[in-house]
Amino acid sequence: MSVKVRFAPSPTGLLHVGNVRTAISNWLYARKMGGVFFLRIDDTDLERSTKEYEEGLKEDLRWLGLNWDETAKQSERFASYDAAVEKLKSDGRLYPCYETSQELDIKRKIQLGQGKPPLYDRAGLNISDAEKTKYEAEGRTPHWRFKLNIPARVEWEDHVKGHQSFDIAALSDPILVRGDGTYLYTLPSVVDDIEFGITHVMRGEDHSANSAVQTQIFEALGAKAPDMAHFSLLTGAAGEGLSKRLGTASIKSYREKDGLEALSIVSLLARIGSSDPIEPFTSIESLIDGFDFSKFSRATAKFDPHDLEILNAKILHVTEYDAVKDRLPEGATEKFWNVARANIKKLSDVDEWLTIVSGPITPVIGNADFIAKAGELLPQGNWDETTWKAWTTAVKEETGAKGRELFMPLRQAVTGLQHGPEMGSLLPLIGETRVRARLSGEKA
Ligand code: GLU
Repeated sequence: MSVKVRFAPSPTGLLHVGNVRTAISNWLYARKMGGVFFLRIDDTDLERSTKEYEEGLKEDLRWLGLNWDETAKQSERFASYDAAVEKLKSDGRLYPCYETSQELDIKRKIQLGQGKPPLYDRAGLNISDAEKTKYEAEGRTPHWRFKLNIPARVEWEDHVKGHQSFDIAALSDPILVRGDGTYLYTLPSVVDDIEFGITHVMRGEDHSANSAVQTQIFEALGAKAPDMAHFSLLTGAAGEGLSKRLGTASIKSYREKDGLEALSIVSLLARIGSSDPIEPFTSIESLIDGFDFSKFSRATAKFDPHDLEILNAKILHVTEYDAVKDRLPEGATEKFWNVARANIKKLSDVDEWLTIVSGPITPVIGNADFIAKAGELLPQGNWDETTWKAWTTAVKEETGAKGRELFMPLRQAVTGLQHGPEMGSLLPLIGETRVRARLSGEKA
């Protein structure tokens, strides 16, 4: 059986860490199995879904390297959902209910007051035609509930959470169609999973109860539920539920505001909550082979955005020039990149090093006599990685300065800074003319 999985975001907001973890897992599994990664746009909520959010989430996925093989929009598939509704109605699995939300609220409060679970009492199943006519004369339009098969347990072998068993009697018959005729997520998702031949549904464990209900809907529509994998949720660093701030930190803001590399997000979210170590990856492909459901823990996983920053630096330190050259500022050569990359945390940090190499900077000259003497000893012509050593050896012999006293004033005069890449590599990049100018105190 060839694998087909789907990522199904709703275009009602920006993609965040939680959704992207689901997207990455689906993508890796599809690629590992030589299967299909399907992007489903869950835009049945026509009021809250926007074209901008849809474009934005596609941009995020492309940026992350999560290319999709097929796509569909739920808003273009209402005919299929309507057909499923007709089937469920004629099979007696979908029934009209006329309660207002206030009436349902009162029912719930009474049940809770009696110490009972707030389950829907199925009153809608027993209303007479006369009552229906009366409600409709009052201007009420029904919402539609799916009649769960009770008593029943729904069980499945979850690829992440192991054996799952839900007592369906503990659940209310779910509303599938609202009073205004719009669809809740539950039914369209099942119809699509059937029609597009989805073999595995992978999503967060907050969907576990939906999966139990949807399993019965699959069956009511004559299909078998796909395999399931529910990932444990992410928490904040201290184990608290992902705060609004962290949980909703968008991929777009990590990209645009924080300037993070896509691969730092991919490296972290592909491995978080699994037994594999979190490591810097410089290509998403290298994560494919190692993806395995059995490595994922059933316990919640901690997400700390600081880990993204750490990974970001580590990834940049080993990134090859060819992989970044299109994003580097003009004048940044391969030699420059190989020297600068070890000293940056974000790609934009290269700007500072490029200025140090190509100027202008203001040299910092503490002891003018010392620097003047060093200037006289500067080797002439044919600079390479050995020039710094030759120069500092000569300065040491001449002045007697050594260690920090020798190196720091030279570094400060040549770069204006107290820290930075190896001077041996930096010196030939700056070049003789500019170094001479800086040693004589010129802004160069
Ligand atoms: N649109 C749903 C969500 O974002 C999809 C859930 C699913 O994967 O079935 O929660």
